[in-house]
Amino acid sequence: MNFDTYIDQRAEDIIKTTQEIIRIPSVKGPAQPGKPFGEDTYRALEYMLALGNSMGFRTKNLDGYIGYIEFGEGTEMVGILAHLDVVPPGGNWTYPPFAAEIHDGKIYGRGAIDDKGPAVAALYAMKALKDSGVPLNKRIRLILGLDEESGWECIQRYKETEEAPSLGFTPDADYPVIHAEKGIVHYKIFKQVEGNLPVRLIQLKGGDRPNIVPDYCEAVIEATPDIRDQVHDYLKKATDAPDLQVELCREENTLTLKAHGKSAHGSTPEKGINAISKIISLLHSCMKNFNISHPFIDFYMDCIGTETDGKSIGCLLEDSVSGKLTLNVGIASMDTSHAEIVIDIRYPVTFKEEDIYERIYPVVQRHGACIEKINEQSPLYVPKDHPLVQKLMKVYEDVTGEHREPLSIGGGTYARAFDNTVAFGATFPGEPELAHQTDEYILIDSLIRNAKIFARAIHALA
Ligand SMILES: [Zn+2]
Repeated sequence: MNFDTYIDQRAEDIIKTTQEIIRIPSVKGPAQPGKPFGEDTYRALEYMLALGNSMGFRTKNLDGYIGYIEFGEGTEMVGILAHLDVVPPGGNWTYPPFAAEIHDGKIYGRGAIDDKGPAVAALYAMKALKDSGVPLNKRIRLILGLDEESGWECIQRYKETEEAPSLGFTPDADYPVIHAEKGIVHYKIFKQVEGNLPVRLIQLKGGDRPNIVPDYCEAVIEATPDIRDQVHDYLKKATDAPDLQVELCREENTLTLKAHGKSAHGSTPEKGINAISKIISLLHSCMKNFNISHPFIDFYMDCIGTETDGKSIGCLLEDSVSGKLTLNVGIASMDTSHAEIVIDIRYPVTFKEEDIYERIYPVVQRHGACIEKINEQSPLYVPKDHPLVQKLMKVYEDVTGEHREPLSIGGGTYARAFDNTVAFGATFPGEPELAHQTDEYILIDSLIRNAKIFARAIHALA
């Protein structure tokens, strides 16, 4: 069965639908009755369900948490898991993040690749199968979550009342197939601080989410009158360095620092430039210059600094299946009496969360700080010779003509929510990783190719 022609004929519809869904700015918002993640996430789900309905599929909205679009018969079910929520856009986009403008064959917008474009491609792949009349021995269900980027409450709600897929895939990572996903844990590390230093940190704020490398951080400090000019001069000189990208503003008695970094996905912190680490490094060198020690800033520099591998906090871990542990400082918030950060750690699949905690706890404690676990997802590991992995690899090879080994990633996908489910697509080898980044886009050619691959994948699995 060849679905390619069918999908090529519907390319315009696929593009238009992708644009329309990107234009719904479905960042998690305040809960409303029946809309637990806010108005916009709800609208995104309703949009997709209505479209599914109009294509002749069965649909269900589960109290605004998650929904699905289904067709076919059979006791078993192939699940395709996608999500319609997006992370906040952040600043400095070349094209507006929710306008879905097309430039150079790319649709720009938050969610274009993560994960709205792939969700739309999957829906049209289902339509291709349905209209082809090819016999299938399982039902096909596209499950659309609204809380993937935060606490996964959508998946919890789904599991309360709905059947788990017999097998499936989630187009929310990379091709060819992801057979291992690192464990994820978020910790809050905090400490009370005393206010009476000659250089007082009045406020520091950076980052919105643990799983994004923050591209902006701001700090306000106040020096005692005797060293005020010297502190200013020190920072002036430091921030004059052209590639540092930190602005300094002097007001009456205070100095404000505004640091710019480069955002990246929290699972690949080494690809970004962490604005929090940048500003803390600067404050640390300034304070050292005046023989001042701020207990939390010292802790930060001793144990994290600009590292992204967890070395100094005691977590330099690695295994052959999934590689090295990563650490991202996603949020920082400090004032004259309290300091805290939230870190996102991705640990290799052969370790457990307890292994990480046991290593970090004594380091944090030695610095008089506290640590609290706020979120966790266990690793996922499916052997490379598993039939699900083999079938999806074959589909990928058939369409692209190239053989590649299954991958291991640090990103957490819905695949870990169910047995017999792996991430499959939607970013092709060689394409940049754009999830959670400024100027996220999906290539129109890749969008269409995804639909073709998904159609074959559904056929192969059902
Ligand atoms: Zn995603």
